[in-house]
Amino acid sequence: MEPQSAADNWEEFRRTLRSQVTPITWQTWLEALQPDALDHDVVRLIAPSEFHLRWVNDKYRPVVEHAVTEVFGPGASLVMNALTEPVFDLPDDGDDDVDIITAEQPAVVRAPAAPGDHLVSKYTFENFVVGPSNRFANAAAMAIAEQPGGHYNPLFVYGGAGLGKTHLLQAIALHAHDLQPALNIKYQTSERFFNDFIDGIRTKRMAEFKARYRSLDMLLLDDVQFLEGKEQILEEFFHTFNALYESGKQLVFSSDRPPRSLSTLEDRIRSRFEWGLTTDIQPPDIETRLAILSRNATFAPQVVPEPVLEFIAGRVVDNIRELEGALTRVTAYAALTHQPIDLEMAEDVLQDLGGHQSASPISTGRILALTAEAYGVTVTDLESPSRRQPLARARQIAMYLCRDLTDLSLPKIGALLGGRDHTTALHGINKIRDMMTTDEEVFDKVTALLQNLRTRPQ
Ligand code: ADP
Ligand code: MG
Repeated sequence: MEPQSAADNWEEFRRTLRSQVTPITWQTWLEALQPDALDHDVVRLIAPSEFHLRWVNDKYRPVVEHAVTEVFGPGASLVMNALTEPVFDLPDDGDDDVDIITAEQPAVVRAPAAPGDHLVSKYTFENFVVGPSNRFANAAAMAIAEQPGGHYNPLFVYGGAGLGKTHLLQAIALHAHDLQPALNIKYQTSERFFNDFIDGIRTKRMAEFKARYRSLDMLLLDDVQFLEGKEQILEEFFHTFNALYESGKQLVFSSDRPPRSLSTLEDRIRSRFEWGLTTDIQPPDIETRLAILSRNATFAPQVVPEPVLEFIAGRVVDNIRELEGALTRVTAYAALTHQPIDLEMAEDVLQDLGGHQSASPISTGRILALTAEAYGVTVTDLESPSRRQPLARARQIAMYLCRDLTDLSLPKIGALLGGRDHTTALHGINKIRDMMTTDEEVFDKVTALLQNLRTRPQ
């Protein structure tokens, strides 16, 4: 048999790939891949854009790899590159991206701010959505920006990844600078602070390093957990801290943990972190997540329907960066494929996210079963079209409990209870919320069910 030419291989590769995906996937994503170089060891493909590449890598890499193996043999490896510069700047899931200014993000346009070369212009107080999870941290940050050195010193903000620590620190820097342009303000990641220090040592310019930091009116150091275990700089940090603190200058720190959990830090440093005000940022509740999404959606090129926002808010629960990323993925996909955004598309685009679960997830099956039992009906009754009482009431209570105990979106709750739409779910939930304050029987039933479900979630 004749050995196959590269062109034959390429055609066979395309046929194989095409047979393994839906026509839409093929046309939208895979057909556009071009061969760069093909041999038996490495198959190099070119995607038309960075965005395209990321998408294919995220969602279709296994299928492409499979086709590569099938056509080019098990020893062949796959390399994919992008042809052009990024068309969309997707927020990345990494830990810190303060150096990246994403052009597509809602931005308050302003001149580059003075207090540090790594400030992101959209990280302002105006763009910071306040809810129960961050209200206190936000208020403290605002007070400090308005009167540095006058309130809490230092301010120590801690919380998990993607919850807004960097945003808040930069908002302080920007606002304080707006109010008092003459102030010498520096926002710095702890990593940069450390590198700066090492540079100072290496170039024998420690005096400069010291002078630079000690002449500040406000120092905001992000992610101080990074300094754990870095003994050389901690000594210097200690002296910088003391010098600034003693002359009434404002210090602000962030960390992924509270000071007491920065276990390898010396006590004298840990205790200094706690001298002023320590405040946390919690994962946002559903209302705050929705508010953040709605806000971001107003900057999207096309309309994002409410049920889609609710779906996303239900899917991503403990990281605002991921929340924004999910919305961006949906709007980017819609723009790219010239389709209006709907729930089905969002579900399809975000299927890889999987349902995030809270600490002890309560299953909807259990909510339905217990509610049905409490009202002497069956789960099938709850799902049925019948609107007789007390069945209808029981159904509304199940909706209310789903809303309260799970992160399911309204459309999902409606669907779960017999394929009803999200307005029916919302109506049911509001009805029970009202009745809780007027109807003792409803109140008692809901309370008992809540207790039951929280103690035995599965
Ligand atoms: P962290 O530093 O805690 O890891 P970031 O400050 O980088 O988190 O926030 C991640 C993303 O979420 C940023 O794009 C930020 O603007 C956004 N974000 C966080 N909290 C809020 C909020 N309360 N309102 C609006 N956007 C927020
Ligand atoms: Mg950060």
